Amino acid sequence: MAFSQLRYQSGALPGKKRKQPTDPVSSKRAYEVKRVRTFQQSWQSGREWLQYDPETQLMRCQLCIEFYGPSSNDNIFIKGSSYLRIDGIQLHENSPNHFKAVQAKQAKSTPKSSSTAAKALNNSCIHSLIN
Ligand SMILES: [Zn+2]
Repeated sequence: MAFSQLRYQSGALPGKKRKQPTDPVSSKRAYEVKRVRTFQQSWQSGREWLQYDPETQLMRCQLCIEFYGPSSNDNIFIKGSSYLRIDGIQLHENSPNHFKAVQAKQAKSTPKSSSTAAKALNNSCIHSLIN
C-alpha cells in the first residue's frame, strides 16, 4: 500500500512549466514561408489599373500603358515589374509619371455634363449662337 502511494505521488510531480504551444522561432519561420513573394489580389482593390500576369509574374499599370504607350520606358510598370511587393506598387502609384497618367484618365472620363467648366463652356456656346 505504501509503495503504490509513493508511486502515485511521484507520477503527480508538479512544477515543470508546460511548453508554450506557439514556439516563437517556428512561428517566425512560418511567417517567412508565408511571405513568399506572390502577387496578392488584395493589392488590386482600389487600383483598377494594376494588372498581373501569372505566367510572366509581372505587374503592369494599365493607366501608364495607355498614357505612355506599351513600348515606353517611362516607368517599370509599363514593361512589367517583377518586384512583387506592396511598397513597389505604392512607390509607383505615388510617382509623378503615374500621377500624370491618372490625371489624363480623369480628364477623359469626367462626364461633360457634371463638370462646371463644361457647363460654362456650353452656356457661352449657346450664348454665342443666340447672339
Ligand atoms: Zn501607373
